[in-house]
Amino acid sequence: MQPPVREPVTACVALGANLGDARKAVLQTFEALNNLPGTRLKGRSRLYRSAPHEAQGPDFVNAVAQLETSLSAPDLLDALQALEAQAGRERPYVNAPRTLDLDLILYGQSRIDSPRLQVPHPRWRERAFVVLPLADVWPDQVSAQDRARVANQPIEVIPEDKACPFGFVADFAADHQVVTCRALSCGEGR
Ligand code: AMP
Repeated sequence: MQPPVREPVTACVALGANLGDARKAVLQTFEALNNLPGTRLKGRSRLYRSAPHEAQGPDFVNAVAQLETSLSAPDLLDALQALEAQAGRERPYVNAPRTLDLDLILYGQSRIDSPRLQVPHPRWRERAFVVLPLADVWPDQVSAQDRARVANQPIEVIPEDKACPFGFVADFAADHQVVTCRALSCGEGR
C-alpha cells in the first residue's frame, strides 16, 4: 500500500483484546500502527481493563492510539483490518471474544457515513473503554457529559512499571512490562 500524497490527519484508533495474551497484543499493536505507511504514533493512552460490553468472554485490555497519518480513512480501515487478521482475529459469531479489535474512532474532523465505515465511530460515546483512554490522548474530544454517561461501566487502569510519553515507543520484557522507552526517530514508521 503506497501512502497517498495528502496532508496528514490526526486519527484515533480504539484497541481491544480479550483472548490469548491480550496485553501483549495491545502493546505490540501500538508499534504496528507506528509502522503503517505514512503513519506515526503520536500518543497512546494508558492500558485499561474492562468487563465485556456488548461482547463475551474474559475481561478486555483496552487502549486508544492517536495517529498522524497520510492514509485515507478507507485505507486506514483496510490496514486496521489487516492487523486484526494478522493477530488471528476470527469472527465465528457476532460479538465473539477477539484476539484484537481495532475501531477507527476519529479521523480529523471528518464525518463519514458509508456502508463500510462510519466516522466518528457511532457508539464511541457509549463506551467507557473508549471514552476514558481517548481522554488520555485527546482530552479536548471528551466532555464531562461523555465521562458521566459511562460512569457506571466497570473499568480500571492497568498499572505499568513504566509508561512511555508521547513520541516514544516501548521495548518490552518477557512479562510485557515496559523496560525502555525509545524516541521515534524522524521518519520512522514511514
Ligand atoms: P467489528 O467486527 O466489531 O470489528 O466490526 C467491524 C465492522 O464494522 C466492519 O465491517 C467495518 O467495515 C465496520 N465499521 C464501520 N465503521 C467502522 C469504524 N469506524 N471502525 C471500524 N470498523 C467500522
